[in-house]
Amino acid sequence: MTVFPSATVLGYPRIGANRELKRALESFWSGRGGDPAETAERLRAARTERLRGLGLTEDSAVPEDFSYYDQVLDVVIATGALPSRFAAEREALARAQDPETEEALRAQFTVARGQGDRPALELTKWFDSNYHYLVPEIGPETEFEWLGSPRVAAARLGARPVVVGPVTFLALAKASEEAPEGYNPLDRLEDLLPVYARYLSELKEAGARWVQFDEPALVTDRHRTPQERSALLAALRTAYTALATPDAPHLAVALTYGHAFDAVDALAETGVQAVIIDAVRGAVPGARELERWSASLAGRTLGVGVVSGRNIWRADLDAALTVLRGIREGLGESVAVSVTTSTSLQHVPHDVERETQLDEELRSWLSFADQKVREVATLARGLAEGDEAIAAELEEARAAAASRRAHPGVEKSEVRRAVAGVTEAQRTRGDAAARHEAQGAALGLPVLPTTTIGSFPQTDEIRRARAAHRGGKIDDRAYEDAMKKEIAEVIRAQEEIGLDVLVHGEAERNDMVQYFAENFEGFATTVHGWVQSYGSRCTRPSILWGDVTRPEAITVEWSRYAQSLTTRPVKGMLTGPVTIMAWSFVREDIPWGEVADQLGLALRAEVGDLEAAGIGIIQVDEPAIRELLPLREEDREEYLEWSVGAFRLATAGAAEATSIHTHLCYSDFATIVDAIDRLDADVTSIEASRSKLKVLPAVAEHGFHRGLGPGVWDIHSARVPSTEEIVELLRVAVGALDPQQVWVNPDCGLKTRGWKETTATLRNLVEAARVVRGDLDN
Ligand code: GLN
Ligand code: ZN
Repeated sequence: MTVFPSATVLGYPRIGANRELKRALESFWSGRGGDPAETAERLRAARTERLRGLGLTEDSAVPEDFSYYDQVLDVVIATGALPSRFAAEREALARAQDPETEEALRAQFTVARGQGDRPALELTKWFDSNYHYLVPEIGPETEFEWLGSPRVAAARLGARPVVVGPVTFLALAKASEEAPEGYNPLDRLEDLLPVYARYLSELKEAGARWVQFDEPALVTDRHRTPQERSALLAALRTAYTALATPDAPHLAVALTYGHAFDAVDALAETGVQAVIIDAVRGAVPGARELERWSASLAGRTLGVGVVSGRNIWRADLDAALTVLRGIREGLGESVAVSVTTSTSLQHVPHDVERETQLDEELRSWLSFADQKVREVATLARGLAEGDEAIAAELEEARAAAASRRAHPGVEKSEVRRAVAGVTEAQRTRGDAAARHEAQGAALGLPVLPTTTIGSFPQTDEIRRARAAHRGGKIDDRAYEDAMKKEIAEVIRAQEEIGLDVLVHGEAERNDMVQYFAENFEGFATTVHGWVQSYGSRCTRPSILWGDVTRPEAITVEWSRYAQSLTTRPVKGMLTGPVTIMAWSFVREDIPWGEVADQLGLALRAEVGDLEAAGIGIIQVDEPAIRELLPLREEDREEYLEWSVGAFRLATAGAAEATSIHTHLCYSDFATIVDAIDRLDADVTSIEASRSKLKVLPAVAEHGFHRGLGPGVWDIHSARVPSTEEIVELLRVAVGALDPQQVWVNPDCGLKTRGWKETTATLRNLVEAARVVRGDLDN
């Protein structure tokens, strides 16, 4: 029997320690040359060597999950499941017979990024992570066909290919345009399986002894009713009964991002040789499960994800060993236990050792991908040979934990007292109607007021000034002058365009979260800590490690300066507590609700200072509020309680006459309209233009009476929408809502746009508002 490695990780960052893949892709796309396949080959060889060096020495212990763009797209390509608008690309892939030729890669990137009037596959968040995958489109017309995968060639290196499993692939798919109403892509499972079987035989021929199939769809409750659940489990049984045959390589099925013990039971009925569970975000199986599995999984392996693939904290090795030993005892001799990560490590940066600028003590609390690989290897050794075999590592982990507990920044009594003392009154504003009246009188805005979401184009000049300041090449004074000059230009431009509510443009911010992380205490930022967000895009999350305080006002001087230049209202601009958390690595030693309230209090002080500086409109962005929404329905109310509570704590200190705005994007607004209502903001702007404002009827039906600014300009594209187009969208808005509620704004911030299209579009937007105001007068 081929044993599953006793230590492995479920996946590894793919972008490269120096973002080599990003560079190669972007150069290739822009026509500056370069060969992504060559970069891929180098990255694969380097990561294999690295992972072996870090302790994954057993056969098949190194995962082969490299991807040019996205792991779900990889399956779309491998199985020929391209939507009909990409028929030419499908042909090119079939012709190439090798997905890594230049022609085939071009075809793949067209599907990923779209071309002309053929939109790309939709991007959506991968479970509750910050990674975005491409959504397959499956219909009755989809013809599955084996078109090859780079993993086949890579399997020759002796690694363990990792592939999104067939059930998850179809469960994440949406119905294609051709599909009839109510079509369920999962109905195509039987047609898809032969292509997966072919995939397996290709992998086996290339030398793969183990193949890992990821089936995280099983942990969510998107198939919620008991009938849907049993259909999903039946699909799992069907799939793996068909795929796990004596001729196939050994299969390990990973149930990550949560727990799904019923799926373990279903898999036990099939021929798969290993099942992997997430014991971090998921749950640790109890005595009942273990007893059941000791029989049902006899002769096979249970992989236990005890090292988190999602956070960057050093593992508590003692606690992990206790879990592992408990499981081993419960399972008895018959089932092998393997140590692994809770998910792929694609969500964490490569190597904390490179962050030499970090305080050494803080660094000792952290563990990035490479450190996590070592932790897994250490735990496997400890499980096999006992504590003595890993005594030094245990000691080191304990010392790091003790130093963290004792660090004065981790627990600040004044912060703890303030959070404990928060009252409901601090989260509650006055009556919304009275606020509406007071704000109307204070601001004197026309109906359909026009505004933007905050940032204006970030020119090279701005970036250069910020970099020069960071590098100490220009002093504070020169930097301030450069930013003020920019603010003055942005204000002048907005006045000239004729917008009603102005912004200062956010030139001083590199990133809407990192900017606050750098100015609050309790955060650290990294230099190399990039993680893939989607395709070639990476973000560098800040690390929220301690109690949060605001040593001094952060945004007030910029806003005050902007307001001093104009008689029109300038909106203050803050990032909300939930978004700061969603886009950072957050401490896990205290409940997130408490962290959120700490941020809420720090932001509340900033809101107060902005008001005192004469700022009458303050926008607190929460684009990520949807993103942290728990995967399981049963966990949602608790989340909304603390997230909404923290936003209200940040904003409810504002006077009645101060208008609180918020902004959301990347979310299907309709599903969270309730939550938005609970935020109690006076005005909410949302991304809506691409869907032609079709969410508005649902919003109206819900009885949402607050101000709403549905985006009327898709800022992800450089196209300038005409006045007529915008008029049309605004007419939809005033038709669906009370015109007194409607604000006029782009979908999102403008920092990635150029000045040319920005000025042109905003002029059209102002003109469109004027036209529709005219309609209303008649
Ligand atoms: N105020 C931010 C900006 O304009 C909002 C960005 C966002 O929604 N993601 O850049
Ligand atoms: Zn946005």
